[in-house]
Amino acid sequence: MPVTSATGKQRRKVRFASTSQIPAAKSSIGLNQPADSRLPSTTVSQDRPKQQSKMSETQVHPAIPALFKELPIIQDPLTTETTKLQEETVNKCLPYLKGIHSCQKGQLNRFGVPALNRDDHIAYLYDSLEDYPASFVALDASRPWMVYWALAGLTLLDEDTSQFRERPMQNPTGGFGGGHGQLSHCAPTYAAVLSLAMVGGEEAFQMIDRKTMWRWLGRLKQPDGGFRVSEGGEEDVRGAYCAMVILSLLNLPNTLPPDAEARKHGFETFTSGLSDYLSRCQTFEGGISGSPGSEAHGAYAFCALACLCILGKPEETISRCMDVPMLLSWLSARQYAPEGGFAGRTNKLVDGCYSFWVGGCWPLIQSAINGTQPATAPSQTLTGNLYSREGLTRYILACCQGKNGGLRDKPGKHPDSYHTCYTLTGLSTAQYHHYHTNASASSRGDYSSAFSWKFLPVTTSEDHGSDISVFDEKDRLTALHPLYVIPHQAAENMRIWCENARLEL
Ligand SMILES: [Zn+2]
Repeated sequence: MPVTSATGKQRRKVRFASTSQIPAAKSSIGLNQPADSRLPSTTVSQDRPKQQSKMSETQVHPAIPALFKELPIIQDPLTTETTKLQEETVNKCLPYLKGIHSCQKGQLNRFGVPALNRDDHIAYLYDSLEDYPASFVALDASRPWMVYWALAGLTLLDEDTSQFRERPMQNPTGGFGGGHGQLSHCAPTYAAVLSLAMVGGEEAFQMIDRKTMWRWLGRLKQPDGGFRVSEGGEEDVRGAYCAMVILSLLNLPNTLPPDAEARKHGFETFTSGLSDYLSRCQTFEGGISGSPGSEAHGAYAFCALACLCILGKPEETISRCMDVPMLLSWLSARQYAPEGGFAGRTNKLVDGCYSFWVGGCWPLIQSAINGTQPATAPSQTLTGNLYSREGLTRYILACCQGKNGGLRDKPGKHPDSYHTCYTLTGLSTAQYHHYHTNASASSRGDYSSAFSWKFLPVTTSEDHGSDISVFDEKDRLTALHPLYVIPHQAAENMRIWCENARLEL
C-alpha cells in the first residue's frame, strides 16, 4: 500500500521500539528497589536508593495529593513475584508522578501535572505513517492498525487527517487482511473501516464492497450467538464487537445471508443470541472475559459493553445482560494508587493502553446507570464520577509521555503507536461526559441507538468533591464517539452515506 505522507511537517528519523530497546536501567537508574529490600511499607521509604532519597521533598509540587505521591498505606505482607513487580512499578512511577524525574520537560501546571507535549506526539504519529524499511516486514500484518492508531491519535490532537489517502485493499472474499494476500480477519477489517470513516468522503466510502462484507460477516456468526474473528479462527468478544461496528457503520442488514451456517441452528439475524452470549462472558469476578469461562480482561470488557450499546440503549442492554454492581466492583479495582492508571486484569500492572480499554467502559456503565437523557439538557447526574479522572490524567501526563514524543505503557517502556493512540483516547475520555440521548443521527435501520451519543466537556469549575480536573485547557483533546472510537461526525457521515447508497443483495 502506498503511503501518502503529510506535507509541511518536520521529519525525524522513524524509531521502532521493537529493535532499539534501551536498557531499562537508562530510564530508571536508582529508582528500583534493591533486590533485598523486601520490607514492610513502613520502612520502605527510609530504605530507598540514594538517588531517590537525595530528591528533596520540597521540590515536589505542593498541589499533588499524598494519594498520588506516596506508597499505599496498606500493603500485602506476603511477598511474591507479583508483589515485587508491583512495588518496582510503583517506585518507577513515583518520581514521574511527583514531577521530579529528569526526563520530564517543561513546567508543571498549577496541579503539579506536566503539560501534554502535543507537537512531539503529532510528529511521532506522522513518522509512524512513513514507509517501513523491508526489515519491518513483520509489521505488515498490522498495517491497517498502524494507520488507524495514527489517524485516531492525530484526530485527538486536532490534526486534519482528511489529507491521508492510504487505501487498504478489501479481499474479494469480503473482509480486510493485515496486508496484501492475507486472510480476512475482523480486527484489520475494523481498523480499515474506521480509517476510511476518518478519512471520509465518497471516494473512501466507495472503497468498501458492502455486499461481500455482509456475506463474509455471515460466515463468522456462530451457533452460540457469538462471532469468530476469521473463517476457521477463534471465537471471542472481539469478533462480536468488530462485526457489530462494521454492520452498524456500513448500515448492513441485520438479516443473516442465506448461506450463513448459523441459519441451520435457528438464527435469522446477526444479533440473534448475541446479548446472551455476551452475558455468559461475565466472570465470577464481575469482569468480562473474551469467551465464556475465561479470565476477565479490560479490553474484552470494553468490546462486550460497546457491543451491547450498539444493540440498544445501555440502560436496557447492559442492565439486562450484566450484573452491574459486580461489574462496577471489578472495574473499580482496575484503577491503582498511587499510579492512578488502570491495569487490565487482577494482579497485573498498570498500563497506559487500559486508559482506554478500561477507561472507555466508564461512560458506557455511567449511561446504563443514568439512563437516556434529553439531547439538549442532560440531567445533573451526568457530572457524577465513577472513577478518578484526576488519577488517570496524572498517570497519562506524568508517566506515559515519551521524552521525544509518543506515549507508552509505563515508565521504562518505549512509546509505540498503539499506546500513543489508546492513552490519548483514555485522556480524552477523562475530559468529557459522554451520555446517551433520545435523538439519533440515523433514523433508519436496526442500530440507531448507537448514533445517539453526545458529550459535554468536563471543566475545572465542576464540583467533584475530591476528584478534580487537573489538565490545562490547552491539553484538551477532541472527543471521540464512545463506541466507534472515531469522531462522532466521521461515524455519522459513513452511516448516512451508506443509508443512502443502494445495496443490491
Ligand atoms: Zn499496553
